[in-house]
Amino acid sequence: MTSERLVILGSGPAGLTAAMYAARADLEPVVISGNQLGGQVSITYEVENYPGFPEGTTGPELVELMQKQAERFGARVVIDEVTEVDLRRGSPFRIQTYGEQYEAQAVIVGTGASPRRLGVPGEQALIGKGVSFCATCDGFFFRGKDVVVVGGGDSALEEGLFLTRFANRVRVVHRRGALRAGETLKRRAGANDKMTFLWDTVVEEIVGNGRVEGVVVKNLKTEATERLATDGVFIYIGHFPNTDLFRDQLEMDERGYLITNAHMMTSVDGVFAAGEVQDPVYRQVTTSVGQGAAAAMMAERWLAERS
Ligand code: NAP
Repeated sequence: MTSERLVILGSGPAGLTAAMYAARADLEPVVISGNQLGGQVSITYEVENYPGFPEGTTGPELVELMQKQAERFGARVVIDEVTEVDLRRGSPFRIQTYGEQYEAQAVIVGTGASPRRLGVPGEQALIGKGVSFCATCDGFFFRGKDVVVVGGGDSALEEGLFLTRFANRVRVVHRRGALRAGETLKRRAGANDKMTFLWDTVVEEIVGNGRVEGVVVKNLKTEATERLATDGVFIYIGHFPNTDLFRDQLEMDERGYLITNAHMMTSVDGVFAAGEVQDPVYRQVTTSVGQGAAAAMMAERWLAERS
């Protein structure tokens, strides 16, 4: 068992920023990476709206820079996953990972969110065999092929546009007749010859024998069903917060997002939260960074008041 003043769960923009702030306050924070170092942004190809990068940057580059900056001040990023927490009995809190047991005076939860699934037949069986949630990771395999993107938000368009670099055709299947995505991406998608839209349409099944061969789609207005041949299905229909670990320990809303007060504190004194795990509204790298900084400042103040 190792005893720490502050353990940060999650290494996305919220966690790494909290780590940088806490490290500069001499708290020597430990960051438990989770299953994806850098979180969701680490698998985002292009980041155009993070200040300080007028030409844009990539998710992996941004994460690398954030990690370096936190480590420069003494934060320790551990590649490991949390398996269990005990927050109920108050500080010091117990955190069990695959490799270690920690005792922490204060905790910042920055475990982020994961992509939602369609829940249709064929989806689960064909993950990694043409069904993907990450164009940045898998786009390369679809050079010269045909893909379907599901969703109508910023992610669907941004990742769909990225896929046009490889695929011959990208069909976006959206359940409504209007996109949720912002104007810049809508304009860019509209101007891209490789991208077409199927409006008011849902995917009912993903078909294939060991590899995606097509999707069964249904037009919600006409109720007509048809099978489209395709090589890949990229799903971007939003996210759910990664809060299973905290069930019955921290207060959550009905969708599972952690509830925090104005000081980023959860329902347990000394446990703070930042980023998408507690933010169903903004969900941007920029806002997660701000929330991470705020959580670290509040954790530092809380620890100082107790000592
Ligand atoms: P999102 O904004 O929640 O969009 C999800 C999309 O999936 C919506 O169009 C939604 O349809 C559709 N959808 C949800 N459930 C569905 C289902 N069961 N079947 C079919 N379609 C379904 O999620 P996101 O695009 O991942 O974006 C998340 C956040 O990150 C947003 O705040 C976004 O602005 C931000 N983001 C920003 C950028 C950028 O600024 N460059 C890039 C990526 C993401 P409806 O429209 O009908 O609800």
